[in-house]
Amino acid sequence: MSELEGRRALVTGGSRGIGRAICIELARAGASVAVNYNASEGAAREVVAAIEAEGGTAAALPGDIAESDQAAALVKAAADELGGLDILVNNAGITRDGLLMRMSEDDWDVVQRTNLRGVFAVTKASMRQLLRSEAGRVINITSVVGVMGNAGQVNYAASKAGLIGFTRSLAREVASRNVTVNAIAPGFIETDITAPLTEEQRQNVLGQVPLDRFAGPEEVAPLVRFLAGPGASYITGQCIHVDGGMVMA
Ligand code: NAP
Repeated sequence: MSELEGRRALVTGGSRGIGRAICIELARAGASVAVNYNASEGAAREVVAAIEAEGGTAAALPGDIAESDQAAALVKAAADELGGLDILVNNAGITRDGLLMRMSEDDWDVVQRTNLRGVFAVTKASMRQLLRSEAGRVINITSVVGVMGNAGQVNYAASKAGLIGFTRSLAREVASRNVTVNAIAPGFIETDITAPLTEEQRQNVLGQVPLDRFAGPEEVAPLVRFLAGPGASYITGQCIHVDGGMVMA
């Protein structure tokens, strides 16, 4: 039997990039998956079709996590569709890069509203369901940038560092109810977020990556599968890097 058979997962931002790979990986492990999207409905439906073609179960569900009422409606729709929730993967995130001196308040606010407040809203709305689960799991996708910092990303780095604090605090709050809360910090992954990097920027990044390459989204998803499964039952409050060795601690 696959290790996530009978488990029900909601993945925010499941339509593209890392979230897409996570949805497919969790479904391959036997979970039924709610694939959340905001703008990319067609892409989310394609993820569902890919999962169903392999014999899995999935549904595409809309919702802008930056809007608290939509976040709550998304969680309700996911729990209704799947019959409850055991696994929440807070993956959706955005960048609005620029140097501090030129960064607008809007670019600051929209990043916090999506990457940090959106996680708060979705997680809060999910908690009742996760507490009902035999072994609830929250997995937050943060970033190496939240640990190291990155020039031109004060808004993004602050949101991702905040997410690590959120992870550790919530892990302490819900541990007694057998819900674990962990974070994954990817390094540089080939997706739409990193596509705009210039060749010079890519070379600068590679200079900091001991494995000397960017990764594919499918190299992040297996860790989500592991943290969601029975093998990770005694792991909580951690931030685990998938970054080619950028941060070693
Ligand atoms: P991506 O390819 O740009 O995909 C972002 C996903 O988030 C899309 O599915 C998008 O859905 C969704 N999303 C964005 N805003 C949303 C909102 N308000 N409500 C609901 N969904 C929303 O990005 P990615 O590279 O896969 O990144 C996924 C996560 O990994 C992010 O949290 C990112 O910060 C983190 N990360 C990425 C890297 C990297 O190098 N790529 C490194 C470290 C961390 P729609 O298209 O449907 O709007």
